[in-house]
Amino acid sequence: MITTVTLNPAIDTRYFIDDFKEGKLFRAEKIVKSPGGKGLNVTKILKQLGTDVTATGILGGKNGEWIVEKLKERNIKESFFISSKETRVCIAILSNNSETEILETSETIEENELKKFEIIFTELLEQSEIVTMSGSLLKGTKKDYYRKLVEIANVKGKKVILDTSGKALLEGIKAKPYLIKPNLDELEYVLGEKIDNDKKIKRAVYKLKELGAQNILLSMGKNGAFYFGETNFKIIIPKIKVCNTVGSGDSTVAGLAKGLHDNLKIEDTLKLAMACGMSNAQKMETGAVDIDDVKSFQEKIEIVKFEL
Ligand code: ADP
Repeated sequence: MITTVTLNPAIDTRYFIDDFKEGKLFRAEKIVKSPGGKGLNVTKILKQLGTDVTATGILGGKNGEWIVEKLKERNIKESFFISSKETRVCIAILSNNSETEILETSETIEENELKKFEIIFTELLEQSEIVTMSGSLLKGTKKDYYRKLVEIANVKGKKVILDTSGKALLEGIKAKPYLIKPNLDELEYVLGEKIDNDKKIKRAVYKLKELGAQNILLSMGKNGAFYFGETNFKIIIPKIKVCNTVGSGDSTVAGLAKGLHDNLKIEDTLKLAMACGMSNAQKMETGAVDIDDVKSFQEKIEIVKFEL
């Protein structure tokens, strides 16, 4: 089984408004709500890939209940800790040429609630081979909270894929997660400067490895990815028409988790991961793929070894 951790989920609400402008009154005729948070996107993709997956994390209030209901409708197994704090709502206003996002910060979680979540998490590990941890930490957790969770999983010999950013990533990698999936923005944060050449990528990778990163998939949108592991690979993807790239990184994480879970060769795992990211980029829905497209993309992706 794969366990996905979403500490800070949200109800993603999209308003479709023509000619949206700041400071005016608008009525939203079309509204689409969905369970959101990067870990829940990973979960939705794993479910589509036919994997045994259980979602965990922290939910609360009416919004939390709504998310549980939506996961049930999709037959997704979940074991969330139910907190006294209301789960947040994130809003995206999609207009003709613009996308405006308003992301609520979470309410502050109490230490004793975190302890209760950790009990659920530890129990789930017993039946899990792979664990993904995605997204931001919620208010009330220390910046090294992922480090704590990765350490719990490592003790049990479970492989962790950690996909987060900023301080949470820098602290989290100190626990040596099996795999991390930064993008270029995240690498720039690590290096503290703009990355505009391969030398800088190399410096950032060395820094991540020094801090504790084991294997690194650096995803670069339409430019494919680099994998830094026992062997290093450049992953070259074909040009495609895209619709909505939000969630492509999460889809990539799902492909990585599935490949590791099924003990695929690393080259095949990387192809699956890229194909999932690409297929998501072609869908309007965030955290969705077309299985036939995933299969056909896998055949068109090229993997080339290189020395660091
Ligand atoms: P993140 O969402 O974490 O920033 P990326 O944008 O790097 O992640 O996307 C992850 C993967 O999804 C890419 O490596 C690629 O396989 C696919 N992808 C994303 N954007 C595009 C695009 N515009 N064209 C083709 N594939 C894409």
